[in-house]
Amino acid sequence: MRNSNHKSSGGRRLVTINFFSHAVSAFFRKFASKEIYRQSLSLSTLKPMPKVKGAVTVDEGRCKGCDLCVVACPADVLMLQPKEVNDRGYHFAFAARPDACIGCAACATVCPDACIEVYRVVLP
Ligand code: SF4
Ligand code: SF4
Repeated sequence: MRNSNHKSSGGRRLVTINFFSHAVSAFFRKFASKEIYRQSLSLSTLKPMPKVKGAVTVDEGRCKGCDLCVVACPADVLMLQPKEVNDRGYHFAFAARPDACIGCAACATVCPDACIEVYRVVLP
């Protein structure tokens, strides 16, 4: 095994290379942080987040009324039809509060029969 404190020319060269690599990386770190700081201060580079609204459709004929989408929705958009049933005899899900939809797609993700489609509309 080699002794790390030995004074061979190879050891000195290693120390020299390490010194320069640290100096170069420190320079670039400093440069990069200044650049990011300058960009963060420039208002022209800031763009407002687009406003997004969701819209949801339920294939009522294929829905089996399992309630999973209703429970998964964080905005209380969906509910099961309390009186009407579809051709299969199920109380199907529908958008009771469509304006509250945020387009998160949680309902479509949990639906076991892929009855739900979610759209995201970017508002002007
Ligand atoms: S997309 Fe999200 S907010 Fe809209 S109905 Fe589905 S779960 Fe609710
Ligand atoms: S998860 Fe799908 S099948 Fe279940 S109630 Fe909702 S839309 Fe109908």
